[in-house]
Amino acid sequence: MILGYPDYAREQRFEADVVVVGTGAGGAVVGSELAQAGFRVTFVEEGGWHPTQTFSAYTSESVPRLYRDGGGTVILGKPPIPYVEGRCVGGSTVINGGMAYRAPDPILAGWARDTGAEELSSKGLEPYFEQVEARVSARQQRAESVGADNKIMREGSRRMGWNYSENPRNQQECVGSNNCVLGCPTGAKQSTLVTFMPTAMAAGARCLTEVRIDRLIIEGGRCVGVAGHAIDPVRMRRGVAVEVRANAVVIACGAIQTPHLLLKHKLSRQSGQLGRNFLCHPNVKLIGLFPFDVKAWQGVSQVGQVREFHDEGIVLAENFIPPAAMATQLPMIGTKSWEVMQRYNQSIVGGCLVEDSTTGRVRRGPFDMATATYNVTAHDHERFLKGARLLAEMWFAMGAEEVLLPFISLPSIRSADELGRIDPSRIRMSEVELFTPHLMGTARMGGRAEDSVIDVSGELWDLPGCHVADASIFPTAIGVNPQITIMAMAMQIAGRIAEKRGLAAPKAA
Ligand SMILES: Cc1cc2nc3c(=O)[nH]c(=O)nc-3n(C[C@H](O)[C@H](O)[C@H](O)COP(=O)(O)OP(=O)(O)OC[C@H]3O[C@@H](n4cnc5c(N)ncnc54)[C@H](O)[C@@H]3O)c2cc1C
Ligand code: SF4
Repeated sequence: MILGYPDYAREQRFEADVVVVGTGAGGAVVGSELAQAGFRVTFVEEGGWHPTQTFSAYTSESVPRLYRDGGGTVILGKPPIPYVEGRCVGGSTVINGGMAYRAPDPILAGWARDTGAEELSSKGLEPYFEQVEARVSARQQRAESVGADNKIMREGSRRMGWNYSENPRNQQECVGSNNCVLGCPTGAKQSTLVTFMPTAMAAGARCLTEVRIDRLIIEGGRCVGVAGHAIDPVRMRRGVAVEVRANAVVIACGAIQTPHLLLKHKLSRQSGQLGRNFLCHPNVKLIGLFPFDVKAWQGVSQVGQVREFHDEGIVLAENFIPPAAMATQLPMIGTKSWEVMQRYNQSIVGGCLVEDSTTGRVRRGPFDMATATYNVTAHDHERFLKGARLLAEMWFAMGAEEVLLPFISLPSIRSADELGRIDPSRIRMSEVELFTPHLMGTARMGGRAEDSVIDVSGELWDLPGCHVADASIFPTAIGVNPQITIMAMAMQIAGRIAEKRGLAAPKAA
C-alpha cells in the first residue's frame, strides 16, 4: 500500500515489525529483503512516489521534484562543495548515473581487518554483491547506446596509452537517452524505484511517502519507532504529525540526513564518531569544446572510466550534464557563456573524481538544517589539478579547440601549450569549483564502540533496536561509485536483523 499526503488526514499512527526510513540504495534493499522474509515492513520516505512515466528531460520540472532542496545543497568549507541527493522514492538511485561498481578488494580487506569482521571482506560480501548485481542487472552497455562523447574518451585513452575500463551499469535495454540524472523515462535504469521497492510492495510492505521523520521514539533505552510530519508536496509545508512504532527501526536517509536525525538524541558519545568521518569523493568538472558535433545527449553518461591513475586516487570520466545544468556551471558570464551554450552540441563534459584524503563532519545547523563541513587538503588540491591537466591534455590530443576549466583565475585554455598554467602554485584552493554526488561515512560501522557508531549487524552500539543501512556506514571512502556496495551491505544487514530475537515471527509461507 502506498500512502501520500492526503491520506494522513485519516490516519497518523502506524505499526510494523520493521520501519525503514528512506527508500534509496540502502533502505529499499533492507525493506525488500525483510518484507520477502515475511516481516511486516513500513517504509517512510520524505519524497513522493514518482513513476517512470512521469520522468521528463525538463530540468526545471524534474529537479525540484526529485532532488533535495531543488539541488541547491552545499557542503561548507574551503572551498564550498555543491552536492546533490535524491528526495523521492528510490532516493539518489533515481537520479544517479547508473555506474555499478563493487568496492575494490583492498578497501574491503582494510574494512575486514579494522573491524575484525570477515563478513566485510570481498569474500564475505561476495554472495550479496552477486545477488544485488543480478537484481539490478549490472552489465555493460550495448554498443548502440554509446554516444560520441564516450567514444572520444575511449579513443583518447587509447592514444594516451592509459588504462580505460568499461563501466558495468544497472540497466536493461538502455537506449542511451542520457536522462539518467532526471529520472530514467524508459525504466531501463534499474534504480530501487523499479527493482527493490516493487518487490517489497508485492511482498506486502507499506510505503508512507511525503513524510519526513524528525526524531526517534525511545522507550526504556530501546528504539521503538520514529516520529515526523507529513509534507504537503505542492506548498512544501508541514502537515500533521505521523508516527510509526516497530520492533526494529532502520535509518537509511543517506550520509547527511542520517547523522542529522541521530544527532538529535546525543548518541554514540563513547566514540564521538556520529557525524564525523564525512567522506564525499569531491570532483572537478571540465568542458571540452570541439570543432565538430558530438551531440553528447545521444548516449549515456560514463560508459567507461580512465583507471590509469586509480592508485593515486584519481579517476577520470565523461559526465554528461543536461543543458540547463551546464548553463549554471560555466566558468564565465554574459556573452561568452551564451557563445559556449550555442556550442552545446560540440561540447563534452568530463570530470576528475578524487578519493578523499581527509574527512569532514555533519552537524545540526541553524533552523535544524543538516550542515556538512569539509576542507579540501593541499594533496587533494594537487590531485584535482593533475586530473584536470590530464583530461585537458587528452581532449586536445583528440582535437579540442578549447577546454573550460573549473578555476576562477584560469577559466579556459586553448591548446596543450597552456597546460602548464594548471599549476598548484598559481591556482589557489579557494579558486577551484568542486562538486559531489557521493556522500558517505558519517555513522561508520566498526568492531568497537570506542571508534564506530554501529556494529557489524548495523545496530547502534548504544541504542538497541535502531539500525543504520545506507552510505553513512562506510568506514572509509571506496574510491569508486558507491551504490552497489551500499546495497550489498544493506542486504547483509537485513539478514542480521531477521536473525535477531525480539522481532515478530515471520508470517507462515
Ligand atoms: C547525481 C548523482 C549521480 C550518481 N551517480 C552514481 C553512479 O553512477 N553510481 C553509483 O554507484 N552511485 C552514484 N551516485 C551515488 C548513489 O546514488 C548514492 O551513493 C546512493 O544512492 C546513496 O544511498 P543511500 O541509501 O545512502 O541514500 P539515498 O539513495 O540518497 O536515499 C536516502 C533516502 O532517504 C530519504 N530521507 C532522507 N531524510 C529523510 C527523513 N528525515 N525522513 C524520511 N525520508 C528521508 C531521502 O528522501 C532519500 O529518498 C550518484 C548520486 C547522485 C546524486
Ligand atoms: S541513458 Fe536513458 S534509457 Fe539509459 S538508463 Fe539513462 S535515462 Fe534510462
